[in-house]
Amino acid sequence: DARLVTPSADTEDSAVEAALRPRTLDEFVGQERVRQQLDLVLRAARQRGATADHVLLSGAPGLGKTTLSMIIASEMNAPIRITSGPAIQHAGDLAAILSSLQEGEVLFLDEIHRMSRPAEEMLYMAMEDFRVDVIVGKGPGATAIPLELPPFTLVGATTRAGLLPPPLRDRFGFTAHMEFYEPVELERVIHRSAQLLDVEIDPDGAAEIAGRSRGTPRIANRLLRRVRDYAQVEADGRVDREVAAAALQVYEVDTRGLDRLDRAVLQALLKLFGGGPVGLSTLAVAVGEERETVEEVAEPFLVREGLLARTPRGRVATPAAWAHLGLTPPQQAQG
Ligand code: ATP
Repeated sequence: DARLVTPSADTEDSAVEAALRPRTLDEFVGQERVRQQLDLVLRAARQRGATADHVLLSGAPGLGKTTLSMIIASEMNAPIRITSGPAIQHAGDLAAILSSLQEGEVLFLDEIHRMSRPAEEMLYMAMEDFRVDVIVGKGPGATAIPLELPPFTLVGATTRAGLLPPPLRDRFGFTAHMEFYEPVELERVIHRSAQLLDVEIDPDGAAEIAGRSRGTPRIANRLLRRVRDYAQVEADGRVDREVAAAALQVYEVDTRGLDRLDRAVLQALLKLFGGGPVGLSTLAVAVGEERETVEEVAEPFLVREGLLARTPRGRVATPAAWAHLGLTPPQQAQG
């Protein structure tokens, strides 16, 4: 979608992200635990002269899973092949990829939970025994021809490790859970990107953008680019708190990272339904959106921020929601 605060990549991101990607574990900001664990896994493998264990990366979109897979390859001095679960329709597609891997190569499989069943089963054997059975022919005459694979490192990425069937999950030697980033970490991401993009930004300016970036580096980088545009056209190119805030006001991204849709949902919930509980369908009609849009696009972040709760009786606003929109809950207004 076209929202400025969506965690998934848009076409402009894809073009710029390559330039902004950290290349080494040291450059990778935040995720201390994951970095430390991965550093051990990779260094130990390097010392043994072996291929690194298979790695599963789980976490929300835009937190750096693709970046980390590239870092794994470069730290292992290995080439990388990038594909995704939905791109692998048939087991044959996977066999073709696996059989063309070089020794030590990193295979990055994004959205690994969306692979087809037969491909998944082929992957089990490939991960464990570095072997695939290539099926030749059809029906009763079909024969399985075993094919040896060179040792490789599979890096799987998924939004939630729980989405994977246990047999697949168990074949990863190491699972890294990526968390949302703290504002101070996002400030570092922003300073780093600003330097690469040749944007002059002061600490307050970076903090202002970080606070609106929903814990997600991809969003931080995108907001930085919009702020840069504004600074260039409306100011002298330099980004401070005032410029960042004014720019993001133009784009309707508020101080907590809520956009127009998020605020419309909250406002309807508070002003029309007294804070709820109200049913999802009613809420959707009130903001003139599809049920799915409210439920899948707006709500997850509102819930994560503790502004909205999903209850069996309907959607309910929290006290933080009233405070954020500067409104007074009805009981307090009477008392
Ligand atoms: P998706 O699953 O949607 O592809 P992802 O988790 O793979 O998302 P990346 O593409 O790796 O996310 O990262 C998105 C952008 O955020 C990249 O441009 C990258 O430069 C930046 N980024 C991610 N993590 C970090 C980090 N730890 N430090 C600095 N920049 C980061």
